Amino acid sequence: MSERAPAFANGSWRLFCVRGIDVRVHWTWLIVAYYDISSRAGEYSSIVWNAAEYVSVFGIVLLHEFGHVLACRQVGGKADRIVLWPLGGVALVQPPPRPGAFLWSLVAGPLVNVVLVPVTVGLVAVSQFADWSNVAPNVARFVFALAVVNFIMLVFNLLPIYPLDGGQILQTLLWFFIGRGRSLMIATVLGFVLGSGLIIFALAMQEWWLCVLAGFVLFRSFRGIQDSRVLVRLESALQRTDAVCPACHRPAPGGEVWRCGFCREWIDVFKTGAKCPCCNTNIDNLICHACGQRAPFSAWLVQAESDPSARPSGTP
Ligand SMILES: [Zn+2]
Ligand SMILES: [Zn+2]
Ligand SMILES: [Zn+2]
Repeated sequence: MSERAPAFANGSWRLFCVRGIDVRVHWTWLIVAYYDISSRAGEYSSIVWNAAEYVSVFGIVLLHEFGHVLACRQVGGKADRIVLWPLGGVALVQPPPRPGAFLWSLVAGPLVNVVLVPVTVGLVAVSQFADWSNVAPNVARFVFALAVVNFIMLVFNLLPIYPLDGGQILQTLLWFFIGRGRSLMIATVLGFVLGSGLIIFALAMQEWWLCVLAGFVLFRSFRGIQDSRVLVRLESALQRTDAVCPACHRPAPGGEVWRCGFCREWIDVFKTGAKCPCCNTNIDNLICHACGQRAPFSAWLVQAESDPSARPSGTP
């Protein structure tokens, strides 16, 4: 899985940091790990093997996430954090806003699992050949479990359900043809529909983990639908000549592409003079759609003939 929003930052601890990549574990992971390991005691001759299997599975998850992070950096994006949580791992990646860069950052994760298929299946073959199931039954069970988990991880991540890798890959492929906003809308609406089906299935089967996962799919798809509406508006918006972002100096988009923080109405702040026409709330700060920086409304305004340094910024 790969994320663009800085979620999961709270409640996690750093495991290690390698080449500027902060690898963290969320507190919920520890609790679920404890329950999972203790509930499956007896599968091996010692619970230490259960723990080793659990940690190794997350080792595969970590390699998958490193695939996303390194590919994102390769195409010039920003990626500096991986958080492990009970549903797997989340790499916080920000590729440059081009479909090709997004596609490579997404595909590189499952590609790690593809590479691991011959490795893990090879170990199972060695195990069969050397008769480990009789000679060393714990080792035989362990290598078989890793091969199965790696294969399930590969297939599952490629399901075209946003925000799973497959759903995001589908979005990026559509992006090449119909633009970022519309592709995100199609992928997230599909994610929402499939997530709804998944939650009904999970409830009927009383599979609680699947319920949690379906809930996550629904939540992220719903947020993605909101984001896609903004993107579609921005893509059709004209650029203003009288306002630029003070941080990245890109021109401000024209039209009703800003949201009132109080009543959530879509407004054109530059037309309404930094006031919401619906609830009369003053809009003091604007967040740039392009760079995400927040700046005071007055700092966005370009004065026709004077140079920008002559204008005091941040004061109305
Ligand atoms: Zn992934
Ligand atoms: Zn308002
Ligand atoms: Zn900006």
